[in-house]
Parts: sequence; structure tokens; C-alpha cells
Amino acid sequence: MRRLCIHTITNKPWSVEECIARYSAAGIGGITMWRYNLEGRDIRAVGRQTREAGMKIVSLCRGGFFPAATAEGRQKGIDDNRLAIEQAHELGTNLIVLVCGAAPGQPLTESRKQIADGIAAVLAEATAAGVRLAIEPLHPMYADDRSAVNTLRQANEICDALGSPEVLGIAADVYHIWWDPELKSQIAHTGKAGRLFALHICDWRTPTIDLLNDRGLMGEGCIPIRQISDWVDAAGFDGFREVEIFSNRLWAMDQAEYLGMIRTSYQRIFAEC
Ligand code: ZN
Repeated sequence: MRRLCIHTITNKPWSVEECIARYSAAGIGGITMWRYNLEGRDIRAVGRQTREAGMKIVSLCRGGFFPAATAEGRQKGIDDNRLAIEQAHELGTNLIVLVCGAAPGQPLTESRKQIADGIAAVLAEATAAGVRLAIEPLHPMYADDRSAVNTLRQANEICDALGSPEVLGIAADVYHIWWDPELKSQIAHTGKAGRLFALHICDWRTPTIDLLNDRGLMGEGCIPIRQISDWVDAAGFDGFREVEIFSNRLWAMDQAEYLGMIRTSYQRIFAEC
């Protein structure tokens, strides 16, 4: 379980304190926290508690959502990302995942430009706080309102345009990119450029009955998770494999039983002890 990390949203019914206690007891090495977990909490204390439980806080989810139809809306997005950088710093993680956003009705090219501008506006703060930013390309079914960045190639283009390789990189989530005919070569390119910052795993169910909240546990679907993870490792990545599953079906289960299923399915694929 050395490289296993779980996103707190995977066990959405649990509080952050429950996630820390349960994951730690299960021997899981990493945790990625979602910002909703931190509402009303002493963020530094949550960070301390996690480290005392023997876990690394792999990242904070999520920043992004830069595009908007109005300048006011775009500024709001930038301000929220500044807040996320502060929160990551207080929490003691050095990575924020960016779900970049899109404004429905606005051309995707314009949204991508606003995403690049928005990231550029917060790079200095991120650098000063020692927090890296990872652009997560999202499956094209979300291009209307969640992300105009839909492939590793597009994410790499933004990284190329902005420079700052030590701060700006990419989160590869198998759910969003498994279908991409350029996947293998783009993973290799991302690694070579030193910007492969994170790997998220789950599975694609057939049929998918909800565009957002019907993701599968690893092994329940058609994504070649092990193969993609091997490509990611071959590109020089040795970080955590982060289980991130949005699922109404799995959230309705007993979460302790579900955590056991996550460990079993992870072990089945990666045969770690
Ligand atoms: Zn993800």
C-alpha cells in the first residue's frame, strides 16, 4: 500500500477526521483532501493530524475554474485559486490539482486562453508558497462547463506557453484520458518535460448512467489501468496512485466495507504488499 493514496471524496460520507483515521488504520500511505473537507476546520491542525497518523497529504483538490463570461467572474476565479494556494500551504501539501473550467456558450479556444491567463496570474503566489499546480485534463464530455482542457496534449501546450516547469505540471487521471489515441506518447512527453505530477485512478463503467457520479472501482470497467500506470512509471513517475471515485452507488454503501474493496481491487491490479 506504499503508493496507494485515496481522495477523501471517494469516501464522501466520511468526515476528514474519519478518513484520516480509517486510511491510516488500513495502512494507506497517502491522502488527497478536497477543499469541502476543510470548511470550518483549523487547516494547519488537520495537516498536523494527518502527518501524525503517518500519511502524506499528496494534494489539495481543487483549484481551477478560471473561465467566465465577465472580467468580474474571471477575477473571482483567480481569487479563489489564491485562497486554494494559501490553504495548501497551511495544510502542508505541495500540490493543487486544477480542474480548469469552461464557460458554456463561449468558444473552447477562448476558455483555454482564459485558463492560461488565470494560471499565469497565480504562478508567482504558488511559487512563493512552495505549491505546485497540476492541470488535470478532463474527459471531453465535460468540455461544456467543467474543463476546456481535455487532452494531455492541450495541457502540455499550456505548460509550454507558460514555462515555470518547477511549479506547473499535469495530473493524469485515467478516467479522463484512457481513450486518447496519443495517450502513450503524451505520457512519455509529459514525463520527459518533468511535469507529470500526479496519477488518479478509477474505472469506466458500461453503461455509464451518470456523467459525473457513476465512476467505477478499479476492475469494474474497461480502462487498462495497469498499462497506463506502467506507462506513467516508465515516464519517470514514482508518486502515489490516487483513487478518486465519484459514485452515488458506492457512496450509498457501508464505507468501511467499501474501503476494503478499494484495497482489494488495488492489490489485484498492482500486487503490492
Ligand atoms: Zn482526477
